[in-house]
Amino acid sequence: MAVSNNIKVYLRVNVDRDNISDLPNLSKLLVELFDKASTIKPYLYLLQDGGCSGNDKVIEEAIGIKEIFELEKENPSMKIFFKKYHPAKFINSILENKVYNPILRHCGASKNQYILDFDGRVYKCWHGIGNKEYVCGKIDKSIEFNKMSKSWQDRSVKNIEKCKSCKYRYLCGTGCLAVTHYTVNDEVLKSASCVDYENLINSLVLYSLDETIC
Ligand code: SF4
Repeated sequence: MAVSNNIKVYLRVNVDRDNISDLPNLSKLLVELFDKASTIKPYLYLLQDGGCSGNDKVIEEAIGIKEIFELEKENPSMKIFFKKYHPAKFINSILENKVYNPILRHCGASKNQYILDFDGRVYKCWHGIGNKEYVCGKIDKSIEFNKMSKSWQDRSVKNIEKCKSCKYRYLCGTGCLAVTHYTVNDEVLKSASCVDYENLINSLVLYSLDETIC
């Protein structure tokens, strides 16, 4: 119905140890059903934390990148997925000779994203829905925000000391703190949440060049 009504759908696949080997089958199905539909946008995201299920199935990002490249070599249908690795947009801009737009903020949580739960509580980060530490306000007949809302909004590489001088700041935008913190407060919101950009960029460049040369 979405395709026939020209509605854009972002189809996110959270990848972990349990489902990574199923990606070729899923990609073949997506190609069969939607290859001609430009409004269906499937993408892969390597899970960063397993939430209440624990982290046993989480694949370290550099290892996941390698495994996905290897799967794609054998299964070209996997090209249907955009791969949302941390430095992917930056690397793609180089490989595709496109302008890279530097970022100051990691995600919608520190921009204009607001999420409501069934009880009218307002959140900035969808990782924290249902967690009272993440509540930023309440909506009833009017909206009231608490001071956490501003703390989320201020989360930018211009405001976090460690990020200010980091060479990856315009690719990273402060990182996702929800991955490493199950509770948040003002202190946590002012802290950097790093990933290993050097290693990830090296891996992505090497695998992409290998693919281009092959
Ligand atoms: S890698 Fe760490 S220090 Fe650098 S911008 Fe990202 S969160 Fe800040």
